[in-house]
Amino acid sequence: MIWYPYEQMKTMKEPYHIIDAEGVYLYTEERKMIDSVSSWWSVIHGYKHPVLTAAIKEQADRFSHVMLGGLTHEPVQKLSKKLEGFLPGDLDYCFFSDSGSVGVEVALKMALQYFVNKGELQRTKVLALTHAYHGDTFKTMEVGDDEDYHFILEAYGEKQDVIHIPTEIPALEEAFEKYHESLNCFIVEPLLQGAGGMRMYDVSFLQRARELCDQYGVLLIFDEVATGFGRTGNRFVADLVLPDILVLGKALTGGYIGHAVTVANHKVFDGFYSDDPDKALMHGPTFMGNALACSVALKSVELFEQEDYMSKIHRIEETNRREMEGFEDSRIEEIRIMGGCVCIEVKDAAVLKGYQQFAYERGVFARPFLKYLYAMVPYIITEEELVTVLNTMKEWFAKK
Ligand SMILES: *Cc1c(COP(=O)(O)O)cnc(C)c1O
Repeated sequence: MIWYPYEQMKTMKEPYHIIDAEGVYLYTEERKMIDSVSSWWSVIHGYKHPVLTAAIKEQADRFSHVMLGGLTHEPVQKLSKKLEGFLPGDLDYCFFSDSGSVGVEVALKMALQYFVNKGELQRTKVLALTHAYHGDTFKTMEVGDDEDYHFILEAYGEKQDVIHIPTEIPALEEAFEKYHESLNCFIVEPLLQGAGGMRMYDVSFLQRARELCDQYGVLLIFDEVATGFGRTGNRFVADLVLPDILVLGKALTGGYIGHAVTVANHKVFDGFYSDDPDKALMHGPTFMGNALACSVALKSVELFEQEDYMSKIHRIEETNRREMEGFEDSRIEEIRIMGGCVCIEVKDAAVLKGYQQFAYERGVFARPFLKYLYAMVPYIITEEELVTVLNTMKEWFAKK
């Protein structure tokens, strides 16, 4: 049987059985619903996009996969070339992997080994944010900060090598002051912390982080697995503040197939570039650079550029703001909006109980978690469809 994610299998409700998907719609036997979650924020072009589907089919007719150990191929070459030009600054060195969690693991390993290669063995610590989410593998859980996902603290006790700070400049300055000699990196979900509760913060925090990282020689890692490709209203937050290492996942393939990329700048790459085999990056996921994933990712990036997705995202943000303007309810703590993300935080998680079924009956698929009711829609959504999603959220509060 299937063991479902984040579910108590004994009490979980029957999942909706999807038989087809097209555009923003998911289809069950009985109805169609707008996917307001974009399948965990990845399906930015909607389902069954003809260009993306064609790309993957054409590649499948050639070959689906060959390993990157000792082999290479055109889809991975074209994608890395494309990303090199598409990403800001000298973020040019692409290390592929099969999921966002692994992409973050690779980034953390890179940062640690970068200093080991330089002989700075004391730099074992990672600075991270409270409410951070970086994935579900062990090191990413350690760097993350979400007790609702993680029982690890109970089993293992205090984290030894990770320091968490809130998104406040004084806390940032203090942490650098105190720990800079033992830090190898500062990792953040820039501007928008997703799974930790759609928390939004100001770019000035990242600008200060960049300055401090430069001052103390610490690497800055942006986990843009969720924020990349427009979600914050910027193509990448890296367009505003340049990190040393950038991780992309989720929307990288337009949600067609799992893939991620850890992109290093020249300085980081150079820290491994040597005649000494011990200085090589010792990592190699079996399916890294998968040809189907790279083919569809290339087309996804091209569509993003050619069809001016940034203006689509700005329109989504405007609609979100307009529709939420003045909306209030005593059960709501705060409404947050940034780019293609809108989140209603309620005071008590119980307020959202039953919302999923309520939305389903109105033709919207939603998956609120804890105290957060949010929408991160596919960017191809029409104005009318988006208003349906937002009205459904508002009607939930009107109903009681
Ligand atoms: C989803 C997510 C990850 C993990 O990606 P997976 O593909 O699920 O392993 C890492 N970081 C952030 C910010 C995410 O939102």
